[in-house]
Amino acid sequence: MRVSPEILNLVPYVPGKPIEETKREKGLTSVTKLASNESLLGASPLVKEAISKALVDLHRYPDAGSFELTKAFCQFYNVSPEQVIFGNGSNELIDLLIRVFCEKDDAVLTSKGAFIAYKISTQAARIRFLETPLTDDYRYDLGAMAEILRTDKDHKVRLVFLANPNNPTGTYFSKEEWEQFMAVAGQRPDLLVVLDEAYAEFVRAIDCPRGFEELKKYKNVALLRTFSKVYGLASLRLGALITDAAHAQWIHRIRNPFNVSGLAQVAGIAALKDQAFAKQVCELTWEGLDYLRAELTKRGFSVLPSEGNFLMFKTEFTAQNLYEEWLKRGIIVRPVKNYGWDHFLRISVGTREENQQAIKALDEILEGFNL
Ligand SMILES: *Cc1c(COP(=O)(O)O)cnc(C)c1O
Repeated sequence: MRVSPEILNLVPYVPGKPIEETKREKGLTSVTKLASNESLLGASPLVKEAISKALVDLHRYPDAGSFELTKAFCQFYNVSPEQVIFGNGSNELIDLLIRVFCEKDDAVLTSKGAFIAYKISTQAARIRFLETPLTDDYRYDLGAMAEILRTDKDHKVRLVFLANPNNPTGTYFSKEEWEQFMAVAGQRPDLLVVLDEAYAEFVRAIDCPRGFEELKKYKNVALLRTFSKVYGLASLRLGALITDAAHAQWIHRIRNPFNVSGLAQVAGIAALKDQAFAKQVCELTWEGLDYLRAELTKRGFSVLPSEGNFLMFKTEFTAQNLYEEWLKRGIIVRPVKNYGWDHFLRISVGTREENQQAIKALDEILEGFNL
């Protein structure tokens, strides 16, 4: 079969290594996964209870309009139902945005080092992909991105993807940088700026823009939220896109009617209800972030600032070696070689115990390297 050059050249997504696979390959009985920025406490007990109750309806097709979930979401975030589309994870919503708004000869703009799903979805749709270099401190260069829009005379750029904070770097852009960027991008009604706030709940920086506030100011902004991170529902696949109703209708037109499972809908409602649990996840995550940062720094690694539930850090060793050594000791972290970085690793924050295990294993490894 013949496939397009975009598909031929597509570098597939590399997920975090699964726990069971690691156990099988390494002959281990206990493995800690700190590789996919998952919630350190799992899902709320209220979610599990809601799912058990919903099992009687397993043979029914789900509500194609996610009525109850939409209601709960809109009440919680104070947006109107016409603005919201749920997806099979935010990954599906990224695909849908490109399919709806990009045609042949159009382009998608983001930064190098941005969440790799933007590139994969764009290439898979055979759309041109533009990226500006990162700054020296591994942050988006929103000035350079605005410059691309300024020189885009034929208005070929239709979508801009901005993850804030960004994964895998953990870095963020400030309200001031965002406002300067939107002074240019906001003038383009034929352009949609997608603000991906997968880690919004973990953000502590006070100068970080808040998507729900920004939506009120600009018509051409779309916000992505996920239930995979703070709410611990990664396995159920639930993401939300919030934008102007005029944009949202087109996405509804082409999405699969049953893109969100019944269990995901029920779980989403329960997760939103249990804010006490979400708060607990955030507090434990912050404690773990500060702990891991301090311990890694003490051992000579340079750690990027992070507003997410993970840290990216530089190692003088080949990251692949360090990754393999950790793996042998039952700790899965995430190489970021697929982003072009051979000397960085990303580690997600685990429970206190898991973080300590990771550092203990690291000390063993470093001792071995020093021999
Ligand atoms: C984890 C993550 C998501 C979430 O993806 P889902 O498909 O909702 O699980 C989205 N964007 C970024 C930047 C992420 O890191």
